[in-house]
Formats: sequence, C-alpha cells, structure tokens
Amino acid sequence: MVLDVSSLKLTLGIVALTLSALFYGSYRRTGSPYSGWWCLALGLLMAGNVAYLLTGTSQQVWADPLGNALLVAGAFSVWAGSRSLRLLSTSRWLLLAGPVVTAVASAIENPASNVWSGGLVYLALMAVGLALAARELALLKPTESQARYPLAVSAGILAVYYFARGCVYMVEGPDGPEFTTYFSSAFTSMLTIVMLVIVSFSMTALSNEQLINGLNDRASRDGLTGLLNRTTFEEQAELELRRLQAAGSVSAVILADLDNFKAVNDAHGHAAGDAAIQAFAAACRASIRHMDLAGRYGGEEFIFLLPGASEESAEMIAETINLHLASTRPPEGFRFPTVSYGIATSTNTADLTAMIAAADSALYEAKNLGRNRIVTARTGT
Ligand code: GH3
Ligand code: MG
Ligand code: MG
Repeated sequence: MVLDVSSLKLTLGIVALTLSALFYGSYRRTGSPYSGWWCLALGLLMAGNVAYLLTGTSQQVWADPLGNALLVAGAFSVWAGSRSLRLLSTSRWLLLAGPVVTAVASAIENPASNVWSGGLVYLALMAVGLALAARELALLKPTESQARYPLAVSAGILAVYYFARGCVYMVEGPDGPEFTTYFSSAFTSMLTIVMLVIVSFSMTALSNEQLINGLNDRASRDGLTGLLNRTTFEEQAELELRRLQAAGSVSAVILADLDNFKAVNDAHGHAAGDAAIQAFAAACRASIRHMDLAGRYGGEEFIFLLPGASEESAEMIAETINLHLASTRPPEGFRFPTVSYGIATSTNTADLTAMIAAADSALYEAKNLGRNRIVTARTGT
C-alpha cells in the first residue's frame, strides 16, 4: 500500500486545527496554562503541515525550513505545557532556541532543491523537545493526575521514534530502505495523528480532573478563612480518629472562640470583624503541625484535631496561636480580640462527638472564668 504523503499531511493539519480550536475553547474557559500551551502546540503543528504542502513548488525554499521550525516549536510547546503542569515556567529564550537553530540549519542546506535540508537537526530537536516533555510528565506526582500515564508514554514513544528516525537518517539518508519503509513522512504523519488523539483525550481528562479537584477544594473550605468547613472537618476528623484508635495513638480536640466578638463588630464594623477572623485563621495556620486538622466550626468558633497530641502539647499549640496573633499587626485603632480555648484529649475512644462535647464544656468554663484562657477538660473521654 502506497500512502499519499500530501493527503496525510493535509489530514494531520485538519485534525490539529480542529483539536486546536476545541482546546482554545477549553483554554478560554479554564485559563489553565497547559491547555494554552497545548492549543499553541496544535496550532504550530497545523501551521507546519500547511507549510509542508508547498514542498515541490517554487515556494519550497522558505516553506520547508519554516515547516521544520514550526514543528520543533510545537514539540517545545508541549515541553513548556508539561512543565506548567508542575507549576514551572519556561524561559522564552530556551523555547525559541530550538526553532531558530532548526530554521537556520534548514535554510543553509540548499532548501530550494533539497526537501530534507536541515533534516538531522530537525529530527534531533524534535526528539529532544518530546523527550523533555516525557520527562516532565513522568515527574508529575501520582496524586496530581491519572492522565499523566498516557501523556508521558505518548510523548516518550514519539521522542524514541524521532530519535530512531534521526539515527537511521544519519546512517542511510532520507532515501535509504529502512528510512523510507519505517520512518517516512507518511508513516510519521499517521503516528502523529494517533498520538494527537490519545494526548487530546488525556488532556481533556486532565482538565476535568483539575476542575473537579478545584470544585472539591472550594466545597470543603470556608471562603473567609480557607480553613476546612465544619462538614469536611468532621468527616476528616472521624476518619483520622478511627485511624489513630487502630494505631493505639492519642489525640486532642481544641475548640477556640474569639472573646466578646459581637462588641468588635459593633464598635468597628463587620469588615474589621472579618479581618480579625482572618488574622486568627492565619495565626492558626502558622501554629499547627502539618498533620493537624483545622476548621471553622461556626461564626467566630474554630476547631482543631491534633493527632498524637497530649494535653500539654495541645495547650502549647493554643499558646503558640496566641503568640502568633499577638505578633500580627492589627489595622490602625483596632485591637484583635482575645481568645478562649477548650481542650479535650482522648486516650481510649475515637468518638469525635464526645470529644467535641468535652472541649465545648471546657470552653464554657474558660468563658465563665473570665475569657482569654485555656481550659482542659478534667477527665479525658
Ligand atoms: P463570647 O466571648 O461569649 O464568645 O462573646 P461573643 O460576642 O464573641 O459571642 P456571641 O455569640 O454573642 O457573638 C458572636 C458574634 O460573631 C456575633 C456575630 O455577628 C459574629 N460573627 C459571626 N460570624 C461572623 C463573620 O463571619 N464575620 C463577622 N464580622 N462577624 C461574625
Ligand atoms: Mg465569641
Ligand atoms: Mg461563639
């Protein structure tokens, strides 16, 4: 079967154009850098294949070097997109170097008559760009996405293919028997179409995963403070307590309530009250350990689960929160309210409700004793 190169390149161009238009829509919707880079890579692939359609005409002298440069730019855009998934940015100069070198190498090897002018540099840089992309995708953390496997494998396969193509090109040239059988432009176009479909499908899955993760995160956090909301705190704390009980480990619950907060709102306005709540949440974040859970329990009430914490270490964390709040500069003419804490520890039960009830009683006691203090429930639950 003889494959018609021009038809395949045209098909590849149309597929790339269609996908690029679809991804542009996704980029506009999500604004995520990797869909932007992927959209750009598809656009460059499409433009490169359009340029190649001029091969064999009088325009080949500039069209072929341009096509090579555009495809290398596409491969490096895939690299930049893969880096953006790891929240890394890429230097513009690094991105431009590959296409510029390719264009120069293609322009100096008599492109008017030589359809493979700059071929080796082009193949080598395609392999480099795709291999770098595969590396970035392989380095994505397992928690970041399931879609990273097909993405990394596709980029890896293409990188190996271009590397092998470059090696065969170097050994036997573009007219050699292996090159024309296994590494022809027609075969490359077909392989690229298959990879485009796999990668685009995976990219869509990735985009959906990220949207769902973002929504989940927003649904589980309190908007004003960024701490867990009450429902999520309770769900996560239940799970954590069960895990701790199975491991035979203790834990502590702290309930914190800002003192006379209504008076703060009345005297300084609701915005100042919000600022105080945010300052307290920031002090909490700065004071707790990475394994602790912190949530906004209600208006000006906060709750913490401290795995493995004794009475003393729970008290120490409450004191640290106070120290952090004291070192935060309040707005002019304003003083942050003091805070009362109720602490309950658990030695032999994983009942969150009972621990919260005990911490709540201790908090009431702290309020009754004059506020601005830490009280620990006398009997562990
Ligand atoms: P106590 O020391 O006994 O806790 O007195 P308090 O005034 O802090 O307690 P009270 O329950 O009487 O009032 C709590 C106030 O917290 C009332 C409510 O308007 C305010 N509040 C709750 N949520 C928010 C919020 O998100 N922003 C602001 N600015 N105020 C809030
Ligand atoms: Mg209060
Ligand atoms: Mg309260």
